[in-house]
Amino acid sequence: MLARREVVDLLGVRGRAQAQLFEESRRLRRAAFGDRVILRGVTEITNLCRVNCDFCPMRRDNTKVNEIFMLGQDDLVEAGRRVRDAGINVVFFQGGEIPQTTRSVGEAIPHIRRLFDDDVEILLNLGNKSRAEYAYLKDQGATTYILKHETSDAALNERMRHESLSERLRCLSDLVDLGYRVGTGMIVGLPGQSLESIADDILLAREYGVHMCSASPFVPAPGTPLEGQPYRSMDVTLNALALMRIVSPGWLVPSVSALEKTREDGQLDGLNAGANVITINFTDEAHRGQYLIYGRDRFIVRANYARELVARAGLVPSQSVFVGSGKFEPAAYEIDSGRGGDNLSRRASTQTAAASSRSSFPARPTS
Ligand code: SF4
Repeated sequence: MLARREVVDLLGVRGRAQAQLFEESRRLRRAAFGDRVILRGVTEITNLCRVNCDFCPMRRDNTKVNEIFMLGQDDLVEAGRRVRDAGINVVFFQGGEIPQTTRSVGEAIPHIRRLFDDDVEILLNLGNKSRAEYAYLKDQGATTYILKHETSDAALNERMRHESLSERLRCLSDLVDLGYRVGTGMIVGLPGQSLESIADDILLAREYGVHMCSASPFVPAPGTPLEGQPYRSMDVTLNALALMRIVSPGWLVPSVSALEKTREDGQLDGLNAGANVITINFTDEAHRGQYLIYGRDRFIVRANYARELVARAGLVPSQSVFVGSGKFEPAAYEIDSGRGGDNLSRRASTQTAAASSRSSFPARPTS
């Protein structure tokens, strides 16, 4: 197990040491997941948010200047149908943090599940809610929830989000406790953030027993208090992705669209650093331009681009690993890459998860 000091050192590597880091991360991904990259279909359901994060154009202070939308139950079911028709069984709903989404999403979920004959992962990213709301959504059929802590540095978190980190972590604990498959994640490159703090972000995720973790490069979005701040290092973000894989080989780690916004082929770099999830955008054209997560010119991931990207990384697209016919425990199955696509050979591996995740790392930084 990597010590905190080693994680800090490895976050800063470049050149040959960085190549070794990525190689090790890919080796562990292969041992745990074969060549699979999980495809998700996201629909953005509202741009209204009660929170006022300094890095986000959908912050509360911008409510008056943004054109607000909120999808209703029928829209959500229709969105689920579009994802199904594209051959994806991870239906992902993401939106600002408002209480109304509990009811609208909760009522839509059973209808969506029927569209898939229950072979579907319902993934939500709707912010802080009460334990009772999370329990209700789970009872309705939600399987997975993403709640990013953004930064584990309590003072920085409060400065950036004007919210308490402890409440966020209470929510994270509730989600894990209720039996969700849970994701968290952080922004890399916030003003005032240190490598030590980023190392703590990764270690906090491990401590909370989550199943997924993400790292997004900081994007200084227009219309926010952080507009004008510099883009910071992509290398640290990619190193963080690789370290997540090394710290917890069985995690789902997305290669997020903000990597592509930051530099061309950024998402390919993310896959090459050990990520294994790509999220395709299914928000309809009318609302896509109103969901201003990184400003108006964010990078939109479309289905053809995603499948091409996965192929360029020498990997194959996969359905959900958490539910239904594709369900497996990381490293318990191997992929028959000769059959391609989603035709996964479900041969029990002779390796145990523990053995396959055992790493010869850390290689001490050499540059
Ligand atoms: S990052 Fe999320 S919680 Fe923060 S303002 Fe934006 S939508 Fe709201």
